[in-house]
Order: sequence, then structure tokens, then C-alpha cells
Amino acid sequence: MRFSKSFIPTLRETPSEAVVTSHILMLRSGMIRMVAAGIYSFLPTGYRVIRKISEIIREEMNAIGGQEFHLPALNPKEIWEETGRVEAFGDILFHVKNREYVLAPTHEEIMTFHARNVLKSYKDFPQIWYQIQTKFRNEPRPRSGVIRGRQFLMKDAYSFDISPEGLDKSYELHDQAYRKIFDRCGLKYFVVGASSGAMGGSGSEEFMVKSDAGEDTVAHCDNCGYAANVEVAESKVPSRGREEKNEELKEIHTPNIRSINELCEFLKIKETQCAKSRIYVHLGKPVLIFMLGNEEVNESKLVKYLGGAVRPAHPEELVELTGAEAGSIGPVGFNGRIIADLRLKDANNLYGGANKTDYHYGGIDFTRDAKNIEYADLRRVVSEEGCIKCNSPLQVFTAIELGHIFKLGTKYSEAMGAMFLDEKGEEHPIIMGSYGIGADRVMACFIEQHHDEKGIIWDTALAPFHVHLMGLNLKNEEVAKACEEIYKSLTDNSFDVLFDDRNDAQAGVKFNDADLLGMPLQIIVGDRKLKTNQVEVKIRKTGERFDVELDKLMPKLKEIWRDTVLK
Ligand code: ATP
Ligand code: MG
Repeated sequence: MRFSKSFIPTLRETPSEAVVTSHILMLRSGMIRMVAAGIYSFLPTGYRVIRKISEIIREEMNAIGGQEFHLPALNPKEIWEETGRVEAFGDILFHVKNREYVLAPTHEEIMTFHARNVLKSYKDFPQIWYQIQTKFRNEPRPRSGVIRGRQFLMKDAYSFDISPEGLDKSYELHDQAYRKIFDRCGLKYFVVGASSGAMGGSGSEEFMVKSDAGEDTVAHCDNCGYAANVEVAESKVPSRGREEKNEELKEIHTPNIRSINELCEFLKIKETQCAKSRIYVHLGKPVLIFMLGNEEVNESKLVKYLGGAVRPAHPEELVELTGAEAGSIGPVGFNGRIIADLRLKDANNLYGGANKTDYHYGGIDFTRDAKNIEYADLRRVVSEEGCIKCNSPLQVFTAIELGHIFKLGTKYSEAMGAMFLDEKGEEHPIIMGSYGIGADRVMACFIEQHHDEKGIIWDTALAPFHVHLMGLNLKNEEVAKACEEIYKSLTDNSFDVLFDDRNDAQAGVKFNDADLLGMPLQIIVGDRKLKTNQVEVKIRKTGERFDVELDKLMPKLKEIWRDTVLK
């Protein structure tokens, strides 16, 4: 491909609309352009990457017996009404104005529609159906470029089985295929949420990459691979334990002291001597929660522990329930359910509210002063705490979901009446799984992981071109002739080449564009080196440069390709 005839609108400056690295580099390298919020065009160079990602996905899906479909993006609304998902998706679902159609955000309904019409006998199974297709979601906050778009390309696959064991097998095949896909793309990823193992149950795994642009916060152990969303992550942080000398309960006047920080300051005590209280209302009844020191309640864990609707109590309810304002609430004499975080298990000599505004107790002993207390893990893990599995330090960071595999079970087949007949002629709902990968996200995440201050650093697998050939002064006939010859011989040797043949661009501009676009190899042809029959080869990844004699160029390139670029 000749640069002079290509549409590669590179930008020198960082566009103001972008903050995330991949977004900045995709814009600057002329791979994408924004059309409206969350809506992007892939320009030719960017689309070459998307096609490579799609091809890797296609090969690995075909290898597990997947059959490729192409389903309509425009869906009759009735089909979505069968599963109740017009309501479930709510505002995320794009409606076509006359409201008889929706733009599909995913394709469980349409695939189940086809399955229902053709998969009738146990002999028709198993099946794996997939497609690589545009999805539409009216994301409330599209951001980070193509990482969260309102229109994006997804590989979505669906498995159809007749037994829970069959589903387990289909799920396992996808798990393996996903690992191969992400490995081949050159992504460093980790997996969150191991399968529950329940037969045909609701196992699911998310394939994630660490990124500042991520919207999920996860805890991850480098040592054993344990990973979980902080909403549910556990750690081996020790409980505070009991102090040897057990103090008496004593009431202390603490005027205007509302927070743990103020209490510590006022009484000259440490945070770990305090029990912080929070009151929630669970199914209409108050629940008093205690955390050690200044730790916050992890509401997801609380909801999971209690089950059913939970909300923080309103300030006026606090006074009604405890006789005290926030800041002075404690376990002693509290009439209702009390749950403390595991770190407070059986703790004594604690400071906490006295259920009397402006008063606290010292010497609270949970085993003596708060009868019937329950203990549960209610905190959010933080970095450096011991991994629950192997006790190595955990890291907490934000991450992006690249892909998701999910055991659906019979949710869709039951809702839509997709049934099969078993060997005895009895009817059962088909057992399904669904498996998605965002292709645009794969591209953005690769760039998040492979770049430097100058630009993108492609691996061979996803690189739009293998080689970036630059002629420095093409008005020089020798240079022009050598470039044409190299261009032809590279192409003849199956290298994909971007040939910067621009007559009017300065050498500096060409160098900057080559580093920004990030092809694995650069060949630089200038009149000075050409005098000794040499050209320069640069490896983008390592920055190494070599002078290579023209007649040795092809073998040398193949050698570098094999020994360095592919490594
Ligand atoms: P997220 O939590 O990031 O919104 P999701 O759980 O909604 O993701 P799925 O419905 O499981 O995602 O979709 C499968 C894959 O499609 C995701 O793993 C992701 O790679 C991609 N994807 C989802 N939403 C978007 C989006 N708005 N823009 C780009 N890719 C997306
Ligand atoms: Mg989503």
C-alpha cells in the first residue's frame, strides 16, 4: 500500500476529546474517527486490525465446531417481548422510531428463534452457532473511544445442548478457545469468576485486562491467579482479635464528635480501637452493622449476605431507632439485628457510640455487651492484603472486560418455547450457553498494553502491515528506484507493506508517522547509505537499528522476523 494514495490522516496533537491512551493513539494514527458520542468509523488502517482480530476469532471458533451466522441487527420487537428483555434492557435498547423494531444489543433471542424452528430432536445436538456482528447499546456514558461505544463489533456465540454435561463441555470448549484467541492477539489478561461447577448452572467467567480506562475494580493475585470483582473479593486480612486485659464498659462525653477520625483525635486512640456503626433497613427492619475503624461497608456483600432489598437508614430513622444521631450509634442496648465484619470477631476494648447523642462507650466487648451478634465478611479488600487462596499480596486495580462466557441454562429456551424431544419422546427445553468478545475492545486493549510515548507497537498478529518502508528523499532517483525494488520484493515475499512514498513529507514527519502507526519493522532508504548499497532496518518493539546490504535484505528481514519480531 502506498502512503500517498492511502487515507491515513495522522495527527500530531492529542485530540481534546480523548483522555485514554488507546483512544488517543487510535485517533492520532488515523485508525478511527468519531461520528457522534460513542459512534466511530474505522478508517482503512484501523479496519485492517479489526479484520485480523475477526479472523483469529473465526479460526478459533471454527476449531471448536462453531458455525458462522450473520443475523439481522434490525429485530422485530415481538421476539424480544417473548423473553421480557425489552423491559429488562430498558433505555439501553435502541428502538426504531415506529417502535416495531429494536436494534439488537445481543442475539440470544434471534438465535433461540432459529433453534426453536430447527433443533427438534436430541439427534440435532450439540450445536455451536456464532457471528461477528455489529451490536447497538444506548450506553448512558459512552467513553474511552471504542472501549465503550453505542455501536460496536461483537463475536457472539451460543451453544445448544440437551444435558447439563453437554453444556459443561460447550462452555469448556469456549473457555479454551477464548484463551487461545487472547493469547494469539498478544493480550495479557486474567480470568474473573470461576465456573460454579453446578451442572448446567449459572457458571460464568469474564476475561479482563488491567487498565486505567476500566470501569470494574478487581482484586487480583499475581501468584495464583485468583481474581474477583471487589464487590465479592475476599482476602486473608487478620481479625483484630481480643486484648488480654478486658476493660469495663465506660460512658464518655464526646461533644460534637461525629466521625471515627474526630473520635480518635479527641480520645487520642487508634482507628483499630474503634467500631464504626451503620444502620441499614432490610425488608423494613433495622440492621446495625459494625466495621473496624474507618472501613466502609461493602454494600454488595451486605446485600448478598442479607438477601432481599437493603438500604441505608435515613437520618430521621436513626434517631427513631436508636435515640441518637449518626456518629453516636453503638451496639450496647440496640434492639435489633447486629452484624459485625469478621475483623471484629469477638473483639473487646472497643470504642463505639452509646446510642445517646454526644456520648460514646469505651471498653465495649462484643462477646459481653452485644448478645446475638452475627459476623460476616462485609469489607472491600485493599491492595497488599493476603490472597484468600495463597496469601500472596493482592493487587486492586481497574480493569476492562474483553469477553464473557456464560451458562444460560434454559432461561431463553423456556421463555421462547425452544424444546427438543429426547430418546423416549419426552419434551425438554434446550440448554444454552452464550459467549461474547468485543472486537473493537480487543484492539483498544492491545494498544493500552503495547505502546510507548511515540505511538503504537504492533505485534505481527494484529499489525495492519508488517513492514513500514520509507524513502527519505524520493526525488533522488537512486532512492526512488531502490524503494520500488524493495517494495516489490517484500510484496513478492508475502510481507504486507506500507510504503511511505510521499514526495512532499520531511524525513522527520515520516519517522514520526512510522513510530505512531507502529508496524513491527521499518525499512529506511536514504541516499547516503544507499551509496554503500545499504538501507537501515529498525525493529519498532526494541528500537534496534541495523544497516543491511541491499542484496542481503530479504534473508536478513526473515531472520529478524523469526528471531525478534515473533518473540
Ligand atoms: P460491560 O460490563 O463492559 O458493559 P457487558 O457485560 O455489558 O460489558 P456483554 O453483554 O457480556 O458485556 O458483551 C460481551 C462483550 O462485548 C464484552 O465482553 C465487551 O468486550 C463487549 N462490549 C460490551 N459492551 C460494549 C460497548 N458498549 N462497547 C464496546 N464493546 C462492548
Ligand atoms: Mg454493558
